[in-house]
Amino acid sequence: MLSVEDARQQMLNTIPVLSSEKRGILDCTGYVLAEGLHAAENIPPFDNSAMDGYAVRAADVKNVSKENPAVLSVVEMIAAGYAPTKQVMAGQAARIMTGAMMPEGADAVVMQEVTQQVDNEVKILESVDNSENVRFTGESVATGQQVMGKGKHLRPPEVAMLASLNRPEVTVYRKPTVAIIATGDELMLLGEPLEPGKIRESNRYGLYAQVEEAGGIPIDMGIAPDDEAEIERIFRAALAKSDALITSGGVSVGEHDFVKSVLERLGEVNFWRVAMKPGKPQAYGISDGKPIFGLPGNPVSSLVVFELFVRPALLKMAGHTELLRPTFKATLTEPITNRDGRVNYMRAILTGANGQYTAETTGPQGSGILHSLVLANGLITIPAGVTLGVGETVDAQFLF
Ligand code: AMP
Ligand code: MG
Repeated sequence: MLSVEDARQQMLNTIPVLSSEKRGILDCTGYVLAEGLHAAENIPPFDNSAMDGYAVRAADVKNVSKENPAVLSVVEMIAAGYAPTKQVMAGQAARIMTGAMMPEGADAVVMQEVTQQVDNEVKILESVDNSENVRFTGESVATGQQVMGKGKHLRPPEVAMLASLNRPEVTVYRKPTVAIIATGDELMLLGEPLEPGKIRESNRYGLYAQVEEAGGIPIDMGIAPDDEAEIERIFRAALAKSDALITSGGVSVGEHDFVKSVLERLGEVNFWRVAMKPGKPQAYGISDGKPIFGLPGNPVSSLVVFELFVRPALLKMAGHTELLRPTFKATLTEPITNRDGRVNYMRAILTGANGQYTAETTGPQGSGILHSLVLANGLITIPAGVTLGVGETVDAQFLF
């Protein structure tokens, strides 16, 4: 059996990064830059005031205090958005607003709160250092500087920066469209009364939400019955209209597990027994350059295998370079024994205080017990064949 790390690395090595496209600044959040961005202009474009106050020559207000203020004559008022018209000479000041251009001659700004203006004179009650409260040309970003590299994930700060850089459009990697199909004769749609032997289909919905959460674009392809010809027809239709395919169920050793034989015909598909619980049987392959993920049908397995395998793959397709969630150590609050020869990804409530995390499992952990994930905010990794006591630490990661 393959280890999770080996299986994931082998799989990721074959995952293609998608092509790029131009997107508008208001429609690029969550995408990944496919180009490096350099500043064509200085930010800020001119020296300006960081405060509402008075632009002065610092030398004029040395060693002043409430008892011993400097008195300067005010030559003009400079509002944000307007250029100064006068130079500030010795003994002079200019009233200035935040973001307004510094006048020539002045080298610092005294904040309004430590001044008193009467008519055209201002008393300065505190001294300032040279350059104080001045924001200099290019201090945030200088012309020519690379501001964001290829591979940068565009979050709200990056979107604001694009505007600062005068970039209404950027080149980003496409987000993968991902077709999702559930298989199984026992599965019923929402709203229909349950018939004997049938259950509600839930994996497709969970996977749909996971694809969205991973930054992909889900395409719902419905439920395929346990019928080989029908499975093949639906899988092919799904592949034709997507960048990747996720199927749920039918990859185990059951009599009606036709998914395997169909996947084999679609492309180069490997059937992996990954040494993990939940989720041992799974299929992974490529058809015409498009990844195919055959996930196990048990609801917990489906969600966990997506999280550990499919999510990093979709991130790679979308141009991300950070593919895995960060892991950290958490301290057990209960003893745990894993008699299995497979790593057990247990669902847990991770609680953090003072930089320390504790982990408590969410009750019964069967791969059909979806509620164990509903109660959890993370996964803990219990290595094969170990007994761990209260106070021992395990690897943990947050989910979603
Ligand atoms: P399979 O992998 O097809 O053998 O299914 C394993 C278990 O998961 C069975 O109990 C199925 O009924 C259940 N199952 C399979 N697909 C789904 C689904 N889409 N939604 C909910 N349960 C499912
Ligand atoms: Mg099935």
